[in-house]
Amino acid sequence: MTTKTIDDLNLKGKKVLVRVDFNVPMTSDLKVSDDKRIVESLPTIKKILADGGSVILMSHLGRPKGKPTPEFSLKPVAAHLAGLLGREVKFAEDCIGKPAHTAVDNLQPGEVLLLENLRFHAEEEKNDQGFARELASLGNVYVNDAFGTAHRAHASTEGITHFLKPAVAGYLMKKEIEYLTKAVGNPERPYIAILGGAKISGKIDVIQNLLPKIDALVIGGGMAFTFFRAQGMEVGDSLVEPEKLSLAKQILDEAKTKHMRLILPVDCVIADKMDNDAQRKIVPVSKIPAGWRGLDIGPETVKVINMELRKAKTIVWNGPMGVFEMPNFANGTLEVAKLLAEATKAGAITIVGGGDSAAAIAQAGFENAVSHVSTGGGASLEFLEGKVLPGLAALDVK
Ligand code: AMP
Repeated sequence: MTTKTIDDLNLKGKKVLVRVDFNVPMTSDLKVSDDKRIVESLPTIKKILADGGSVILMSHLGRPKGKPTPEFSLKPVAAHLAGLLGREVKFAEDCIGKPAHTAVDNLQPGEVLLLENLRFHAEEEKNDQGFARELASLGNVYVNDAFGTAHRAHASTEGITHFLKPAVAGYLMKKEIEYLTKAVGNPERPYIAILGGAKISGKIDVIQNLLPKIDALVIGGGMAFTFFRAQGMEVGDSLVEPEKLSLAKQILDEAKTKHMRLILPVDCVIADKMDNDAQRKIVPVSKIPAGWRGLDIGPETVKVINMELRKAKTIVWNGPMGVFEMPNFANGTLEVAKLLAEATKAGAITIVGGGDSAAAIAQAGFENAVSHVSTGGGASLEFLEGKVLPGLAALDVK
């Protein structure tokens, strides 16, 4: 990796301003309900403390629309972090101005401070230069460890780097980039991508970027039906994007000419309506009756995917195989999660894109049984699309 990281700096006596992604789910009584993102930031925080620096953390939480909104306050997150670190975490009631400066001025080496939600100011998402300069004035070193927002050029991710140097990556950012670079760079072969989710339109850039690099592409989820329709098959009421039919055909042709295996489901779980309690049947994909829709991959398809994954050395997975939010259509997605865990055990590098697939692998209990689960859904998707992430591109290079 050419991006500079905190390992390249001596942080003794420095006030280190760290952009973290503490955009965590909260309960209705404002407690942290899933602290994965906070836990993932601990190595960076501990390294700064061990070096003898002080830590100033900044993050967004939710969508407060540019003004202070109590339900989106980061104060409960400060308390949760204190529990995880086993030391006090100070809190500043605003991320700029007097509250922030007073708290920073009083901060001693070895102490941790969390600033209030960046998105209480509309200037954050507008990448306002004045706001970025204000944030920059709080620290001597900038660390970006918020992979989940690296695909957005905001004041705290991009703008700030014009006013505060050195600007380097934290450990979480480093880990995300190292794994995702393996997936788009020079992966060990055979290299297999599994893509699912609702629509081709959401994944088309990923497909096109990965197509020349992979040995096989497994397609599941709603988008498989547009591929079937493009081959002239009847798919009942399954999700089809009529405007993407020619694109699907083009991808099928491209796969053929490039000798890349494109694996579509052979059977599916169909239902007579989009409802967990709908009537269900398992049928071959060529036998979907009118009035029924495919909502999950079937057991034969899981076997086919298993055969493919057994050969793989690198596997990337993004998007569920069915409507996994409904327990009756979650099986295919959970089975793929299990297959990824088995492939990892057998020595493959397995990378799970954030968002729905990350939620599914956690639900299946295999979160720690794969090589890497990305903490950023949108950011990992854009990385796999081959796009430059502004928050990463803005950091110093070696
Ligand atoms: P995406 O955001 O494109 O990754 O899509 C995720 C969504 O795709 C999830 O909410 C799933 O419920 C949905 N999905 C997966 N398979 C199907 C399907 N066969 N029909 C309709 N929606 C699906």
